[in-house]
Amino acid sequence: KHIIVGGGSGFIGSALAQALRDRGDRVTVLSRTGGDQRITWDSLADGLPDCDAVVNLAGEHILQPGRRWTERYRQEVITSRTDTTKQLVDAINASKNAPDVFVSTAGKCFYGTQTGAVDYPQLDEDSAPMGLDFPAELVGQWEKAADHLDHDRVRHVRVRIGIVLGKVDRGGFWGRLWRIGRSRGLLPIVRLPFCLGLGAGLGKGTQPFPWIHIDDMVGILTQVIDDESATGRYNAVSPGIVSNAAFTAAFAKALRRPVVWSIPASLIRAVIGPERASILLEGQNVVPKRTLAMGYTFQYPTIDSAMENLVEITF
Ligand code: NDP
Repeated sequence: KHIIVGGGSGFIGSALAQALRDRGDRVTVLSRTGGDQRITWDSLADGLPDCDAVVNLAGEHILQPGRRWTERYRQEVITSRTDTTKQLVDAINASKNAPDVFVSTAGKCFYGTQTGAVDYPQLDEDSAPMGLDFPAELVGQWEKAADHLDHDRVRHVRVRIGIVLGKVDRGGFWGRLWRIGRSRGLLPIVRLPFCLGLGAGLGKGTQPFPWIHIDDMVGILTQVIDDESATGRYNAVSPGIVSNAAFTAAFAKALRRPVVWSIPASLIRAVIGPERASILLEGQNVVPKRTLAMGYTFQYPTIDSAMENLVEITF
């Protein structure tokens, strides 16, 4: 198969591209910069190359450490998702030989948040949003950007992604500092304070933490590409959802480090701004109902099994 992956240079995209190449598929990465086995977004104006599947995983990182949350950054976060999705759908619709499937992605933040929630209702692929905040609005616009796909010619799969966990290692002191900017996903960002014994829960800690192991993320994307009956929404979150506090405890245990405090919600709001704070301070109790019904078997269904695989203790 020939598969085009928008954002194929990113954390999830590069893992997907590697897995597809490993099984013999040809992968072309759609990127802002050209190169070997890559095409650029601008080149889509000349037409989409013939391919069997298209996946879009492009988007400006919403929690870039060290970047101030300005109006410009906010707009980049939105348009890097909506415009790339629209551009791909336009190119697919205009293509003579359309691909079999288009996989558009978005975040689990679609479901929004309920301020001050104490119980968290289960949310599956058919659930409506609980309430609107900036991340939910963003995901709403992002999903809408794919609505004009020619559904008569192309199968459309929409994947809603939870917090993706990839490999980290504890390493020695310099190793900890050196590696912080090199690996991707959430764990490398929070790894250094945990390694230094400053790991902390976020806010009240009871909020759900809808996580997924990177191998399962890639597994679900591969299955929806291959399975001709897969269509519509699929939640890419582990069935073993835990609270933020339970995630913090599992990560600290895997790193063999203590958790001694919890970062107050007010401090998180002050540092990253209230619009983005809900990503960390609130959570959605998302279940992968249709993903399990499709027959996907999670390789890492529990947080402990994921942590055991992801955290390497090296010195
Ligand atoms: P990354 O940040 O690792 O990669 C995203 C890719 O998007 C980059 O490699 C880059 O490719 C491209 N990109 C970045 N900024 C822009 C921009 N301004 N315009 C166009 N393209 C841009 O993200 P992930 O792989 O972690 O995530 C992929 C998608 O899944 C994202 O949209 C993200 O929001 C979503 N998601 C991720 C989650 C996670 O836990 N990782 C959770 C929920 C959703 P290049 O430089 O080659 O152009």
